[in-house]
Formats: sequence, structure tokens, C-alpha cells
Amino acid sequence: MSRDGRSRTRTYAVGALALLALATGCGDNGGGTAAPAPAGTSAGVAQPTGGAASTGPAGTPAPAPAAGDAAAWAKWNLKPLAPAPAPPADKPVKLERTGTVPVFSDIKTSDKVVFITIDDGAEKDPKFVEMLTELKVPISMFLTKDIVKNDYGYFKPLQALGNHIQNHTVSHPVMSKIPPEKQKSEICDDQAALTQQYGTAPLLFRPPFGDGANTPTLNTSVQQCGPRAIVLWRESMQIHDMQYQAADKKLKSGDIILAHFRGPKELKGATMTQMFADLLARIQEQGFSVARLEDYIQPPAS
Ligand SMILES: [Zn+2]
Repeated sequence: MSRDGRSRTRTYAVGALALLALATGCGDNGGGTAAPAPAGTSAGVAQPTGGAASTGPAGTPAPAPAAGDAAAWAKWNLKPLAPAPAPPADKPVKLERTGTVPVFSDIKTSDKVVFITIDDGAEKDPKFVEMLTELKVPISMFLTKDIVKNDYGYFKPLQALGNHIQNHTVSHPVMSKIPPEKQKSEICDDQAALTQQYGTAPLLFRPPFGDGANTPTLNTSVQQCGPRAIVLWRESMQIHDMQYQAADKKLKSGDIILAHFRGPKELKGATMTQMFADLLARIQEQGFSVARLEDYIQPPAS
């Protein structure tokens, strides 16, 4: 019934699709088989504040005042998104230093927030850096070495805004179709490259297409390379709207949304910033704000 199902079938049936998908970004399938998020306490309802961006490290410029914000949003044909509540002190997801890594596609929280993740790294549109610099919407970036290595620098100003870089393999393979040692090199080599380039080791891993996420083999491969969780998604942004796994086609608190660094070739002429503006509008019209995924995840005790 779902496009997810058909995509999955194609992914498994046609090896060449992996190459096609590499050119166009992630498949949309995979999240549907996600295990439920690990049991965790609800984050509770925090009091809204000036937004997550207002609590940067010392020396970080304060965000523009509300009036300035409205102008910034208007520039992108948007109304200001409601600021996210303060990050929960008690993180709904608590990662362990060793052992099986959890697999999740949403975060258990009553906060009226969703999380945006952006994958692969193909489109490197300077306008998108400008947009995020102005709007300060938090994102998480799952980057594929072979797709970003021609311009690692593009992602550094996005990282400097507080956004985290996460692991998405070296060459974007269908993980269940490759042997364990190849899985390991795909994850470990991306981990090493991203750590070297961005100065911090990815904590999270996303398999291309969501494939193999719940297999013990992939879980073991992830464990051997450093990431401590496998992150899937509930919605997948297309060009103007999301594809929903839920039958009611509505966002839920804590949903993780998949998007891609894509440009006009993949978006039927739309730009990355137009796609992202449409994504924010879809989130806003459903009454959600955007929070930072890593603010809801407690890293392992060191
Ligand atoms: Zn991908």
C-alpha cells in the first residue's frame, strides 16, 4: 500500500538502485521497520524560553531580538516558528558506552517538538547556510564521506551554528547486502573522516535507506566504530510536503524527520532553501517547533 513498501522492495531487488540512490540521496524506505524508541522517561513539559539558540556557550552572540527575527523569517517567506522549549534536563534517551545500540525513529517526549535530520550532503547551496544562520533552526547532519569529501568545508559553518555531524557511511551502500567486514569499514572510515574534519566523533549512525537497522550484524558493526545509536525517521521530506509513515499523516511530538541536501535537479527545479522553507511551513501549520535532536539524547558517561 505504501510507497515505503515499494521502495523497500526495489532496494532489495535491484542492486543498481543503490547507485541511483547515491546520486539522488537516500531512499525513503526503512524507517517503517524501526524498533520503538528505547524506554525512557518522558521529558516532561519544560517552560518555553527564548529558544535553544539562546543558551549558547559564553561568547556566542545572543540571537537577534524578536522583531529582527520576524524580518529574517519574512525574507524566506516564513512566519517565525515558535521557539523550542528548553532542552529537557533528564534526557529521554540515555546512551550506554558499550553493548547493543538502540534503534529509534522518534523521541519519547511530551514537548511539542520535532527533529530535522538532513542526509548525504550532495547539494552544497550557500543560500542554505545563509538561511540557517539567520533562522537558527536546529538540524542534525548525517554525512556520507564520498558525497561530502569534495567540500568538507561547506558543512563547517552549519556545524558552527551548533548543529551536529553524524555518521552515514563512506559510500552509501545497502548495508544488508555487504559482509560484516565491509559494513565495518563503511562506518568506521566515515567515522574517522568526519572526526578528523569536524573535530568531534559522531554519536549517531543512520544506515542508508534505513536498511539493516534492526539486524544484529549491523548493530555489531556500529558498535565497533563508535556511534552509540542507530537513528531512523518517521517522516521523509520530499519537495513540498512530507511522506508520513503514520496513516493519519500527522506529525507527533518527538518525531524525527528525514530530509536531504538536495538541489533543483533532485527537487524538480526547487532549491534546497525552498524545500526547507516548505518543510518548516508544514511543521508550523501542525503546531510544532523544531528542537535539536542531540539535546534529547544523553551521551554515554565518559
Ligand atoms: Zn542517505
